[in-house]
Amino acid sequence: MARIVMKFGGTSMAGSERIRRVASIVRRQQEAGHEVAVVVSAMAGETDRLVGFCREANALYDPAEYDVVGAAGEQITAGLLALTLQSMGCKARSWLGWQLPVKTDDAYAKARIEDIQSGALLASMAAGEIAVIPGFQGLSPEGRVTTLGRGGSDTSAVAVAAAVKADRCDIYTDVDGVYTTDPRIVAKARKLKNVTYEEMLELASVGSKVLQTRSVSLAMKEKVRVQVLSSFIDDDAPAADTLPGTMIVGDDELARIQEDMEMERQLITGIAADKNEAKITLTRVADRPGAVAAVFSPLAAASINVDMIIQNIAKDKGETDVTFTVPKADLLRTQALLEEHKDAIGYYRLISDDKVAKISVVGVGMRSHAGVAATMFKALADRGINIQAISTSEIKVSVLIDQDETELAVRVLHTAYALDAE
Ligand code: ADP
Ligand code: ASP
Ligand code: MG
Repeated sequence: MARIVMKFGGTSMAGSERIRRVASIVRRQQEAGHEVAVVVSAMAGETDRLVGFCREANALYDPAEYDVVGAAGEQITAGLLALTLQSMGCKARSWLGWQLPVKTDDAYAKARIEDIQSGALLASMAAGEIAVIPGFQGLSPEGRVTTLGRGGSDTSAVAVAAAVKADRCDIYTDVDGVYTTDPRIVAKARKLKNVTYEEMLELASVGSKVLQTRSVSLAMKEKVRVQVLSSFIDDDAPAADTLPGTMIVGDDELARIQEDMEMERQLITGIAADKNEAKITLTRVADRPGAVAAVFSPLAAASINVDMIIQNIAKDKGETDVTFTVPKADLLRTQALLEEHKDAIGYYRLISDDKVAKISVVGVGMRSHAGVAATMFKALADRGINIQAISTSEIKVSVLIDQDETELAVRVLHTAYALDAE
């Protein structure tokens, strides 16, 4: 017997028919003798719809009220799955975020889980009841509902898995694993049998939305075994226990697996594209100590994450242009804050562009090989794709380009790094 946390994403939960499919996958695991907790997302498109209502109500919405609206989608699917399981003769009940409770901080709309109380949950699972938990939602210290940031149900699932000390956390989605790049963009993408926490973390953080970034960092920290697999399967498909999807593994474990299979490590593991950032340029910022701090301090105070930053060389008057990217969802707030602090910062114009995309190549192989960035720049240049900003880490190179060139860039790089499937 194992204790398993299963998570089902939006497409898997989209409508009664799909929920019945999910219920039968869950029942199969229970019938195999496992203790099961299930974490669910809202139906596909539902959170977008709810966020749309918030924007219509108030463009500069209060994140705490946004959470009241946004958390509703998961409450519906949790109840529906519990009802469906009961209709199949299974014992099941829902546990809402405030009931468990899933305690978070008070960063509304992007709250962090601090603690999940697991006593009642464990007792219920041990009694053969399937626990159905809405993902994405939690409870703030002041007793208000919070949400965990878009895609947050993955993090809910990993946090529940850590809290109940699950043997495995299976993330069921609409693809059968993690690929070298989004298989919906590149038909020749290859499925990875294993990927390291570190690489998955980097891939997720640069836009590969198959797993939310925080879910990966939490899994890495809490040593949760995570598998990504498809919920779109037939009854005779291999059971999840045979690990038909992609396993997220430690670096040592991957090295051992590759050695056993006499495989060589690829230089690049994956490529990701992110269309959720916007570029801001402030022109003629004073080139003196403290000027850049004046730009970014108000954004930090508002919990706005700045990603890529470029500061141009000072022109003759001791002034410089500062370019950076922020999440598109924070663009309006960023503009408002920068206007508010215009005098303190001292800039001439604020130019924003939300038609950009960030393309990143990721791989631990980069640590020991030179020339990864050069290959990227050359492959893009050969296709006439202009690079607007660059950022790097130890195992990643990212470039900012025109959003219209996203698909072309990903395909070109997938071929350039020899990742195309046969
Ligand atoms: P869910 O609703 O199940 O959480 P998501 O839409 O959040 O599903 O994530 C699954 C999607 O992630 C896939 O449909 C795929 O288009 C996209 N994706 C992006 N990069 C990758 C990748 N490297 N491997 C697999 N899927 C990816
Ligand atoms: N429903 C939320 C979203 O769409 C959370 C999730 O599905 O993971 O972002
Ligand atoms: Mg998701």
